[in-house]
Amino acid sequence: MRLFTPWCLALDPAAVRLLTSSDGGWTPPDSDALPTGADLLDRYLAPLAATPAIRPHLRLGHAVIGITRQDLDKVRSPGRERLPFVVRVRTRDGEERDLQASAVIDASGTWTHPNPLGAGGLPALGERTAAARGLVHTGLPDVLGADRAHFAGGRVLVVGAGHSAATSLLALAELRRRHAPSTQIVWAVRSATPRPLVGKGSAAADELPARGQLATDLRALVDGGQVELVTGFHARQLHTNPGPDSGVGITVLGHGPAGPQQLQADLVINATGFRPDHTVASELRLALDPALESAAALAPLIDPNVHTCGTVPAHGVHQLAHPEHGYWIVGMKSYGRAPTFLLATGYEQVRSVVAALAGDQARPPSPSRPSHPRPGSAASPTSCSAAPVTAPAAGSSRSPPQPRPRARARPSPRWPATAQEAHPRTGEPSPAASSQLASHR
Ligand SMILES: Cc1cc2nc3c(=O)[nH]c(=O)nc-3n(C[C@H](O)[C@H](O)[C@H](O)COP(=O)(O)OP(=O)(O)OC[C@H]3O[C@@H](n4cnc5c(N)ncnc54)[C@H](O)[C@@H]3O)c2cc1C
Repeated sequence: MRLFTPWCLALDPAAVRLLTSSDGGWTPPDSDALPTGADLLDRYLAPLAATPAIRPHLRLGHAVIGITRQDLDKVRSPGRERLPFVVRVRTRDGEERDLQASAVIDASGTWTHPNPLGAGGLPALGERTAAARGLVHTGLPDVLGADRAHFAGGRVLVVGAGHSAATSLLALAELRRRHAPSTQIVWAVRSATPRPLVGKGSAAADELPARGQLATDLRALVDGGQVELVTGFHARQLHTNPGPDSGVGITVLGHGPAGPQQLQADLVINATGFRPDHTVASELRLALDPALESAAALAPLIDPNVHTCGTVPAHGVHQLAHPEHGYWIVGMKSYGRAPTFLLATGYEQVRSVVAALAGDQARPPSPSRPSHPRPGSAASPTSCSAAPVTAPAAGSSRSPPQPRPRARARPSPRWPATAQEAHPRTGEPSPAASSQLASHR
């Protein structure tokens, strides 16, 4: 699977310094090339993990199962900040151990906690049974590779409106074109518009061209009738059919714009995003946004109800802080349920937190500042023709980031603009919707 960010936005500057200064003979990749996930592992993460500065500190095969303060549960306050954290881990052989730490940076991601198909946030009735029978796939199945036989020739329903859904839909179309012409592709989204992706919805308009290309290609598939688009669909219940002779494998019952609606498929790909699991920190004092489950101060900057464009205002250690002094959640998990996270944002978050741990408590950047470091700036270790969408952070002496001028995407009748969208919390038109309204008047 290929990333939509080029190498220059996938490499952290501090990591590049470590790699180039070690004796491993690391060669920087072509900064404008798009790595695959395997490239990222083989050419970046594995060599980085092997550097002398990092290798001795790794504890592989250790799953963190809980974090607390030494001898203090969540309720007790006196002297809390002065006590070390206790991080309980389970090793590969099942042994549980406690490690001590003066600070904890939780970068455990959200990949293993997908949202359910149920539009209300609970699993749809029958969803667990259907998943247990192998009829619902989450994340990104390998449609053209290992899972090909599974999807070839079937009727596949993809649910979700983000880049994962787009990636699966494009892969299914490729599967049908190259190997299995009888494959049928249905795409269901909850929104009333098919505007699918968090970015600008076209290669020309997105700061990350490869991400925008997903939207452009998907739009061509929908407009060409190769993907059957169902808008305004809210899944409530899944019926698995009793046997192989009963036709399609699954019926998804839900609610559409005209009332009750059902969709049938052999398989469902659930691409409805991810959510954080804060169970390991249940003995710590967290300030989480009630909607996003991100750090509370970060939420207004990343709320997908407002920030539909995929850019994220500047943020760092101050926005990531919790009442539990010394505990930070960074990376994908820091965004909670918000979907627009990028690697480069995480690198800036970590840099900011580590700078603070090292004593650099510089004033935080103004959240109103946009977050597009110039290509070739410190956030981009090598020159880069894509404008990163990232977060300059506290302790940074970087020059203010500059957004790249953007082309405006022209909406087609099949892909209406977002102008009707209201902020779900306030009922007011969202800023993005308002600006689109203005631009179409
Ligand atoms: C389909 C998809 C495509 C994406 N494409 C891009 C892209 O092109 N460019 C981009 O910049 N971003 C992309 N992203 C966003 C991307 O996921 C993040 O940028 C990045 O992977 C997040 O890194 P992370 O370290 O926060 O989390 P993860 O990459 O999820 O890493 C978390 C790690 O923590 C480990 N872990 C979890 N729980 C525990 C525990 N209890 N104990 C110990 N270890 C634990 C996990 O095993 C994992 O190794 C994409 C995301 C998705 C879902």
